[in-house]
Amino acid sequence: MVSNSADGIKWNLSDLYTSYEDPQIDATLKDCHDRAAAFAARFRIPMEEPRTITAELLLEALNELANIYEALGRVGSYASLLYASDTASPNYQNLEQSVEQRSTEIRNLLLFFELQWLRADDVTAARLINDPTLTLYRHYLESQRRYRPHTLSEPEEKIINEKDNTGSNAFGRLFSEITSSLSFTLEKEDGKLEDLNLSQILSLLHEPDRTLRQRAMEALYQGLSQHAQVLTFIYDTLIQDHLTMDRLRDYPYPMAPRHLANEIDGAVVKTMMEVAEKNYHLAHHYFQLKAKLLGLNRLALFDQYAPVGKEVKPFPYNQAREVILEAFNAFDPKFREIAAEFFAKNWIDAEIRKGKRGGAFCASPSPQLHPYILCNYDDNLRDVMTVAHELGHGLHGTLSRKQNYFNYYTPLTTAETASVFGEMLVFDYLLAQQTDPQVQIALLAGKTEDIFATVFRQNVLTRFEELAFAARKDKRLTPEALGNLWLDANGKYYGDAVDMPDGYRWGWSYIPHFIHSRFYCYSYVFGQLLVLALYRMYKDEGKSFVPKYLTLLESGGSDSPEALLKPLGVNIHDEAFWQNGFEEIKSLIGGLQGLVKPAL
Ligand SMILES: [Zn+2]
Repeated sequence: MVSNSADGIKWNLSDLYTSYEDPQIDATLKDCHDRAAAFAARFRIPMEEPRTITAELLLEALNELANIYEALGRVGSYASLLYASDTASPNYQNLEQSVEQRSTEIRNLLLFFELQWLRADDVTAARLINDPTLTLYRHYLESQRRYRPHTLSEPEEKIINEKDNTGSNAFGRLFSEITSSLSFTLEKEDGKLEDLNLSQILSLLHEPDRTLRQRAMEALYQGLSQHAQVLTFIYDTLIQDHLTMDRLRDYPYPMAPRHLANEIDGAVVKTMMEVAEKNYHLAHHYFQLKAKLLGLNRLALFDQYAPVGKEVKPFPYNQAREVILEAFNAFDPKFREIAAEFFAKNWIDAEIRKGKRGGAFCASPSPQLHPYILCNYDDNLRDVMTVAHELGHGLHGTLSRKQNYFNYYTPLTTAETASVFGEMLVFDYLLAQQTDPQVQIALLAGKTEDIFATVFRQNVLTRFEELAFAARKDKRLTPEALGNLWLDANGKYYGDAVDMPDGYRWGWSYIPHFIHSRFYCYSYVFGQLLVLALYRMYKDEGKSFVPKYLTLLESGGSDSPEALLKPLGVNIHDEAFWQNGFEEIKSLIGGLQGLVKPAL
């Protein structure tokens, strides 16, 4: 393996346990098991009669539950971090599996608690939720209750769970098996044919050679079209299954279960998506600009990810650390202080090595433990942004350690706030340092395209899902019908600025979110626009924004996103708030526009 600047940068997990053989691992699990059994013995019967339960007793139960989960989190995190550090190690594989198995047994002993809490009548629940003794757990108790109107009886839930394995889950597995074994035939310049998998063919869309991009795109859609019948059948079946469950669980419309999980009001999402659509003209403007940069009259779909400008030189790990710390420091010295600890105390595993898990993540195990970061640092700018992103999560995970276990984690919609904000800080800092306009062009175009992918494209994906669900109500979906809906939803985004080939009608068919986590994609739009709007606020307000933002991060998941954002003056129901995010995008494109003119 070629050596690079992050060689030797490994995390130190000894804060958790000494090794995979540490006898404390087994001792923790045994202790958790005993405590869970004792918990069930003490609280099962009182919880069956919630009307007679006192706030003091419920507090005692919640404290103990949090303690057990904390301890389980320590073992579970250690096992999964160790496994991520070397997935090929049989010892780590075994530890990961056995910890998972034993944790599931323990969690099953505790499951009754939440179920019984859901069954409590509304008057009893309100009495306990509003009792000052339980203030610390108010949000948890209250938010759990939101599933009450949509939960069926225990035997019914059990049957659904069991039948799902051969029903909707089986269709999901079929989809994964088909898409992971897809093969695409690319004709090379010398006329020879080459077989590529999905990620290989997609990465060719970023190549500088235009004909190569075009041929890759043709091969992609040609390959997908061969599976049209079965991919359509899977999606059609899963939509039907979703609609059936909505009826049985009494959800008013298909997106409702997702809104509930995200703790978000459907009206907010509707406003947000409409504002995004009103700003599609920004995308058209950018695509015209990009065509100019590439020397084209009009962009074809396969030019969308073509590189422009000049990439920044190799970026060694130490330099990345300095850039990130300086950028964080400019925001607030406390940010630097927290991030510096990750580097100094070896909480980051950055080197590339065989067997290590790919990609990057930040694990924030629980309020009693500090977070850990894994990445595969390869000396380029993209990886600098990845470290900034994960350190943003790390800051969030550190600052919210003030919260108790149940108030620590944030829902999907706000989980990416600190990470994307961290990237913005580093991006702006880097841009200001560059003097070569070609490098600035590459930076600005890269950022703009990243944002488009999370805002506009995810908005399009969500609209497509809505269209498909609406069409399924009348009749079974055909490949033809789905292709038309897909071209329809995308046509609004690309407008006249991008030439969409007819083969693009298969573009919907390999997207896993439609299968495994329906209506998930709007959370990306929400997260990105929220950060852009907050970032704009920071630019407008300057230093007075900082303490409000710190408070937001410190709040963890102690309340709904809407309530936590209110003190920052954010009203997520307001169209103008979402428009702020687009003003930030406008200024990015404006910056690029300024560079393009003299460059041509
Ligand atoms: Zn993230």
